[in-house]
Amino acid sequence: MVEQETLHPFELAGLGEAPFRFVTVRKNVYSAAPGHQQPGGTCQYCSQGIMYECVIRSSDGKEFVVGQDCVMKLDRADNRLVSQVKRAKLQIERERREAIRAEKYRLQEITREAEMNRQREANGGLTDWEVAAKQKAAERAAGRKQWIAKNEWLYRVLEAGYRSSFIEGMLDSLECGPVSELPERAIAILQDIYAKSHGRRGSKAYAAAEAEFESKVENEG
Ligand SMILES: [Zn+2]
Repeated sequence: MVEQETLHPFELAGLGEAPFRFVTVRKNVYSAAPGHQQPGGTCQYCSQGIMYECVIRSSDGKEFVVGQDCVMKLDRADNRLVSQVKRAKLQIERERREAIRAEKYRLQEITREAEMNRQREANGGLTDWEVAAKQKAAERAAGRKQWIAKNEWLYRVLEAGYRSSFIEGMLDSLECGPVSELPERAIAILQDIYAKSHGRRGSKAYAAAEAEFESKVENEG
């Protein structure tokens, strides 16, 4: 009979009446000992042990489990069931990868935290990064002190006078480096300010201070 040829393989196997509906895929693992895993389910179509059970329901309400391989073998006999199980497999694969990623991240965090604790223990409460930052800040402060001392002759004059934003900027610069590294135009202005702090423009005192400024800047370093 023609109808016999079109019977669904699951129906032929006595699992129920077609059409069949996909319910879910679930993992069924049997563990005889810690770390040991083996399939905990049995395919009701081929009787093989299976770890992933595809739960299927027949149209007359019989629910049974088969392996993914047996669903895939249905091929054109039940395209819909095949694609549903394929999708479910992809979803399981995604979830598995996500779980692996999460676990890897968790272990990295534990390792990182242990390393931070090791550093804090070794450095009296600070991480290596914090130690380095503290050292850098100290070096910067020491450097600033050094430059303020070196440039003190000019620094004091500027500090005592009118504090325009230009002067504030110059004071900042004098805390970080030599006068000779300032822009030429700025050096000329500072020279004038310095000389004027000694005497009126055109006076002997002014000229002397101007010369003194030049020689100090030339002999910096
Ligand atoms: Zn099977």
